Amino acid sequence: MIVMKFGGTLMGSADAIQHSASLVTSSVKAGTQVVVVPSAMSGVTDSLLKIASSAENGEIAFAADEIASIKTRHITTARALGAASDSSAVAKLEGMFSSLEQTVNGIYLLRELSKRSRDLIVSFGERLSAPLMTVALESLGVTAHDLTGGQAGILTNNAFGNARPLPATYERIPQRLNGLFEQGITPVVTGFIGETDKGAITTLGRGGSDYTATIIGAALNADEVWTWKDVDGVMTSDPRIVSDAQNLEFLSYAEIMEMAYFGAKVLHPLAVTPLQKNNIPLRVKSAADPSFPGTLVTANATPLKNVVKAVTAVRNACIIDIGGAGMVGAADVTAQIFNILANLEVGAVMISQSSSMANISLVVQQNDGKRTLEALQRQFADSEQVRTIEFWEKISVVAIVGDGMRGARGVAAKLFSAVANEGISIDMISQGSSELNISFAIDDEFTVQAVKAIHAAFHLDKLEP
Ligand code: ADP
Ligand code: ASP
Ligand code: MG
Repeated sequence: MIVMKFGGTLMGSADAIQHSASLVTSSVKAGTQVVVVPSAMSGVTDSLLKIASSAENGEIAFAADEIASIKTRHITTARALGAASDSSAVAKLEGMFSSLEQTVNGIYLLRELSKRSRDLIVSFGERLSAPLMTVALESLGVTAHDLTGGQAGILTNNAFGNARPLPATYERIPQRLNGLFEQGITPVVTGFIGETDKGAITTLGRGGSDYTATIIGAALNADEVWTWKDVDGVMTSDPRIVSDAQNLEFLSYAEIMEMAYFGAKVLHPLAVTPLQKNNIPLRVKSAADPSFPGTLVTANATPLKNVVKAVTAVRNACIIDIGGAGMVGAADVTAQIFNILANLEVGAVMISQSSSMANISLVVQQNDGKRTLEALQRQFADSEQVRTIEFWEKISVVAIVGDGMRGARGVAAKLFSAVANEGISIDMISQGSSELNISFAIDDEFTVQAVKAIHAAFHLDKLEP
């Protein structure tokens, strides 16, 4: 059994969906059971987020126009895939649009948008695209049935916007899907979404369809999980930034997690976690060139001669620096800082502490910056220990990742001289004890220049087996 996930671009038009469906049917017809996990059509998730916030702000005309244009796009696509205007697929889409309109209208009337209602609105992206995949599969002679993540058994906690699967998920999924397999039906499960025990729809965080696929893969003990992409596979850097980025044929779970965490948008950072227990391989494959091997992710990567395998960047971040001579040796200050982050549900991209403990620097995402700063200022307003809290915006975190860095000499020297040669100054440095990565913060305007220089310095345009 293989779980196959298709991202927004591969669901972006009737032609793209037809092609994605053909990648599924060739496996199904060769006798492999497949679970299909589609993302929303490209751009639709962003559009739904805009609809939600404009309704909250009273801009209902904008929201209505935007819904109308998404509606036209989906109905036209369904028709182009062969669904008749009186088909159950078109009726299903129309029903979903009335429900979206009602929800958006409720937000407009109340001028109130909670994380819970935002998740409900954004879930329409995948709930609308899944029936399109079903139509395409059926037109190619494969019997398919679409379900939401919740219907397929994905039960999550209440962390709307960034929900996590609960253990019962792994029992529910086989209970819900095995019956379909027995009838020769291919399940199509919406990416990105799950539901709470009360049936409220949750989302797994941006890019969460990758995570849906691996959760299902783990629950069904699949042979492999394949995420089909519009790139060759996982590459040495973002191909939109570095034109000579190379495909990485093998990566370990740990390496891809570090890459995703440090900004490689190609996979959700937690996507491989469900696969680790049973060592289920993940393949990142090129939809444009299905015979190309892509990237195989397993517990142990095949080592390359290149000790560094990838350069990544997290854009749009800021640094908060908390300092004061009185902080030396004061473990309670550290505890208070982390408590604040936890209470605000803010994850720090990078943390560094001077060995004297006279200051602690944090990098957080731009949209968490101000509220984290304000909470820290409140906490330490009358502190004897903390004297200064400084804040820098427009920061990026650049990281190098690779298993082979462990114990290798001269990696940091080469990295920092490559950056220094570009005349770029470094604001903060951190190295995880796993020695799988070195990350550092710079002014955002130098990100592309730094990434390109590092890619060249480590000869990532020529991978050596
Ligand atoms: P999907 O919609 O299939 O989930 P995404 O757009 O989320 O696809 O991820 C694929 C994109 O990630 C690629 O188009 C590419 O521009 C970007 N990307 C960033 N870093 C990398 C990398 N190291 N390797 C491959 N792609 C990357
Ligand atoms: N549609 C969602 C997003 O844009 C999930 C995904 O594409 O993986 O984030
Ligand atoms: Mg993605």
